[in-house]
Amino acid sequence: MVGRVVLLNGKLITPFREIEKGFVLIGEDLIEKIGTMDEIIIPEGSKIIDVQGLYISPGFIDSHLHGAFGGSVMSATEKDLRLMAQGLVKCGTTSFIPTTLSAPWEKVVKAVDCISQTMKKDLQGARILGIHIEGPYISLEQKGAQNPEHIYPPNPEQYIPLLDKYPNILRITAAPEIPGGLELGQELKRRNIVAAIGHSNATYPQVLQAVENGYSHVTHMFSAMSGIQRIKGYRISGVIESTLLLDELTTELIADGHHLPPSLMKLVLHCKGIGKVCLVTDSMQAAGLGPGKYELGGLEVIVESEIPEEFEIQTQENNYVAKLIDRSAFASSVSTMDKLIKNMVKQGDLSIRQAVQLATYNVAKIHYLENKIGILAENKKADITVFDEGINVKMSIVEGKVVYGSWQ
Ligand SMILES: [Zn+2]
Repeated sequence: MVGRVVLLNGKLITPFREIEKGFVLIGEDLIEKIGTMDEIIIPEGSKIIDVQGLYISPGFIDSHLHGAFGGSVMSATEKDLRLMAQGLVKCGTTSFIPTTLSAPWEKVVKAVDCISQTMKKDLQGARILGIHIEGPYISLEQKGAQNPEHIYPPNPEQYIPLLDKYPNILRITAAPEIPGGLELGQELKRRNIVAAIGHSNATYPQVLQAVENGYSHVTHMFSAMSGIQRIKGYRISGVIESTLLLDELTTELIADGHHLPPSLMKLVLHCKGIGKVCLVTDSMQAAGLGPGKYELGGLEVIVESEIPEEFEIQTQENNYVAKLIDRSAFASSVSTMDKLIKNMVKQGDLSIRQAVQLATYNVAKIHYLENKIGILAENKKADITVFDEGINVKMSIVEGKVVYGSWQ
């Protein structure tokens, strides 16, 4: 049995309010109580950790990533998922949703199966919440960095057995406008799985139909999606405008300082409000490893921090992105959740509390998990991150256990 742990003298971010001098009492894997220091009663035998004024928040949740710290989801090995879990936890991510890519179907199933087996184990790092499937059911016109050979419309004979066998699939990103896209949305909604519009070329009427048929979220805002097009002089709104307009849709930002300029991040927050947006890394295996040349799905990519002078912000040290070798496009993000929060504060003009909300509660809510995680409150999972004013992570607690930090 794990005893109780008390975190003392922290600045709590619940994330709906801040408690200037607060405590968190953890019993087993759940939060037992939070409050101000003058209300504290320390049960006998508790392990006491004085965080000396650092921030204490719910652990960060990454709902969209393909790899990190040398591990890749599509390699379908426990070893790679472990590498991810153990690296991510050092960046304050206490739980994550490994995300598959378009590939031969057997490979997708193999990756899903591996995630499903591995999530039952103690990874001594961040824990796996479930599975996010991105592709093959996407639009060829908006394939982005996904392999076109393995992109095709959804077929119930393929996805129903998969959904039946793996109840821990939490989200599927698909293009609702392709044949079978709306039926897929209905089926996912029936099962309480998030149907996300992504890699989609839909027009506004098609997005409305998607919403009517179960789609509730939009994957990586501005990346691989339609915007306004002109047909015979007439403007047709795409997924971008529809997402900004429709309250029914939530969305996510790759706030790595490269994928989106501050103006676009602010535009999304301005239109959607703080409650409808979450942060995702969408990272590949070079995340956390630093600059250099890497391979991504058979392509050579370069990881660097250089930003062209036309971009709104200057190159920031130690803030990298993966690009195709000719630098014509991004290959992926190599960021981590702590950096995204830092960027939202610096570039997105958010308070630390607001930025943390985007990386915790909002992610949980979008994936129907807010009953369990994403909030510092009684009876929620004790997934907790401790960090300083500059969002430098000092400690991570996963299900009540200190997994990272000098207090271990
Ligand atoms: Zn994508």
